[in-house]
Amino acid sequence: MRTANLDGRLVLVHEDGVIDVEKAGNGLFPSDPQAVFDRWDEFRAWADSAAVADQPRTPFEKQELGPPVPRPRQVFAVGLNYADHVAESQVETPAHPAVFTKFPTSLAGPYDTVTLPSALVDWEVELVAVIGREAYQVAAADAWDHVAGVTLGQDLSDRGVQLRGPAPQFSLGKSFPGFSPTGPVLVTPDELEQPDDLALGCAVNGETMQESRTSQMIFSVPEQIARISAICRLLPGDLIFTGTPAGVGGARDPRRFLAPGEELRSWIEGIGELRNPLIAGPGHPQRTDAV
Ligand code: ZN
Repeated sequence: MRTANLDGRLVLVHEDGVIDVEKAGNGLFPSDPQAVFDRWDEFRAWADSAAVADQPRTPFEKQELGPPVPRPRQVFAVGLNYADHVAESQVETPAHPAVFTKFPTSLAGPYDTVTLPSALVDWEVELVAVIGREAYQVAAADAWDHVAGVTLGQDLSDRGVQLRGPAPQFSLGKSFPGFSPTGPVLVTPDELEQPDDLALGCAVNGETMQESRTSQMIFSVPEQIARISAICRLLPGDLIFTGTPAGVGGARDPRRFLAPGEELRSWIEGIGELRNPLIAGPGHPQRTDAV
């Protein structure tokens, strides 16, 4: 099953169009794409029923897609989770997942324009796991059972803000408005032949910058859920950005960051792509303070 947020309304996505959930169910489920995660099992059973599958599909404009999970209560992200990205970052392989947060106000849709606050904004294509069932102290073997689905995300990062200060702190520099584009759809794990081995990548203005597979993660999706839920209670509709492979701009020689007028395209096998045009914010490009 694939779901999306079409202009603020929850829809089921099929090749030939969408089904509006609130209308198809006569109000059984509300239109709010966030509300469904608290009743995920019930929703899945309803969506799989023949009466729903036979509903007429409506064509749609993909530009109207918003983030499939618009208001998660918690957004976790894991840094340094691919060996080649650890190497290019010139740090040691983490013994524990390097967890930080991206504040939910940074979420954006798959085709939204992103405003660059500085000349130091970097790309990080990532698989994003969506929690579908409360998870606390869950074993890795049971972790996929707690996932509603997966989507695609960019963990955009202002490297100046991220790495400044007496000790680097990741969360603020990765939480400017628009710094977490996600979408275009949420895909349930059963739709993917190998949910732990998906090709992913991104390109800036057509130049491929990152290309890898999610099987290259140091901590797999189930392992991340086990490690994070050992400490935090994961709630339905929470997001986990699961890390990025090598090829970020800040690790290139010379360094390369996103510029106004460029387009960032990101993709993951089986889910789809994001296309985010970039424009200059009021602070750009004056603030180029060194990392
Ligand atoms: Zn990241």
